[in-house]
Amino acid sequence: MVTYRYSCEKCGYEFDFEQRITAPPKKRCPKCRGNVYRVIHAVGHILKGSGFYTTDNRNKDFRKREKEESAGAMTPADSNSTKHKDKK
Ligand SMILES: [Zn+2]
Repeated sequence: MVTYRYSCEKCGYEFDFEQRITAPPKKRCPKCRGNVYRVIHAVGHILKGSGFYTTDNRNKDFRKREKEESAGAMTPADSNSTKHKDKK
């Protein structure tokens, strides 16, 4: 069995498919049924996979920080002082 990587030319979906070396290549994307082509399976696949993971983690952290910052921008004390000025 050999693991092939396929990429969809319609939606860009990539997936790995394990099959016999003599088996005919897959032709349809499981998502959109578009044409898929076989990508040469290299060692870089593993690096790419871990890279995705790191990017995902960083993205999550960034979004969390962004949320915290926007929450901190709207401090209740700030709106209080504005109200006080209005009354005066
Ligand atoms: Zn597709």
